[in-house]
Amino acid sequence: MAGLGIRISSPISIRPKLACMPLERSRQWISPYEQMDPQKPLVKVFLSQSAYCRISLHAASELDDEVGGALIGMWCLDRDTKEQFVVVQHMLPARHTRQGSVYLTFTQDTLVGFHEELDRNFTGKRIVGWYHTHPRMGIFLSHYDTFLHNNFFPEPWQVALVVEPHKSLGGFFIRDAEGSLSPTRYYGFYEMNGNMGRNMVEWKNLQSAEDDERG
Ligand SMILES: [Zn+2]
Repeated sequence: MAGLGIRISSPISIRPKLACMPLERSRQWISPYEQMDPQKPLVKVFLSQSAYCRISLHAASELDDEVGGALIGMWCLDRDTKEQFVVVQHMLPARHTRQGSVYLTFTQDTLVGFHEELDRNFTGKRIVGWYHTHPRMGIFLSHYDTFLHNNFFPEPWQVALVVEPHKSLGGFFIRDAEGSLSPTRYYGFYEMNGNMGRNMVEWKNLQSAEDDERG
C-alpha cells in the first residue's frame, strides 16, 4: 500500500484541448441508468472502435482473473458549447499488477510503466482513465476500485470503465460537475465512427440511442 497517494501526473499544461465534439460521426450508447434518470456527467466519453476492440480482446483473454489497463487519449473542451469530453484512442494493458479473481490492483510500478509508455509511444496524449474486468460480476465500482480511482486517477475528467467478459457488459463511471462519483450508476459512451459504417459495440447492457429514437 505504500506510496499509493503519490500523483505522477504532471501539473503543467493541465488544460483541456480545444476541439469540436465529434457527435455527428459517433453513435451514442446509453445505460439503463441514463434511460431511467438522465444526469449530467462532467465529461462525455468518446471511444474509438480500435480501442473498444483492444479492450474487449484483453477482457476476453482472461475469463477467471481480473485484468485491466490505462485508457489513453485526449481531454478536450468543445469550442462552441464549452462542454468537456474525453477521447479514448488507445489502451495500455497494465503490467506489475497484483491480480486474483476477486480484485486487481495497480501498483506504483504500474503507473510508472504507463507514463514511460506514454512518453515513448503516445507523445502529447494523456491517461484519461482506466479499465478493468469483473468476471462473473456486475458493472460497479467496489470500495477498493473507488479507492484506486481516487488515488491513481484523481483528475475530475478521468474515467473508469468496467467490463464483464462472460455476459458481455460494460459501463463508464464518470464524476459529476461537483466531483462526486456513484459506485453503481454507470454511463454509456459515444462510439466514434459508429454512425459511418458498422457499429462494433456488443455490450448487451447498453442501448443505441438511435434505436431508442426510432422506437
Ligand atoms: Zn473492480
